Amino acid sequence: MPEDCVDVVIEPADEPDDSVMTTDALRNTLCGLNAQMYVDDTVLHYVGPRLDDDDLILIAIKHHHDLLVEMFTFAPGRRCVVETCSRLRDAGSTVCIDHVQGEAGTVS
Ligand SMILES: [Zn+2]
Repeated sequence: MPEDCVDVVIEPADEPDDSVMTTDALRNTLCGLNAQMYVDDTVLHYVGPRLDDDDLILIAIKHHHDLLVEMFTFAPGRRCVVETCSRLRDAGSTVCIDHVQGEAGTVS
């Protein structure tokens, strides 16, 4: 690893925050930084340029922690069947928790 590159374990955020960047924006930003995310067992890692604790990118990664873990988990045949959705299936279902709730009419 280059010296200015860090491998940091990301803990989930304590409080929800609707103002953080979306996962799409986050993905583009990580690409721009040449950073990567990976999951070791269920632990989420960020590898890339060092970020300050209050960096908006780091805050966004923490807030999207659970979704990012799903996104970077190797899970052939275990993903939501909804096209464009990359989340893992809910237990006993062929769709993710978002789409299970959507079917029940609780999520638009
Ligand atoms: Zn889904």
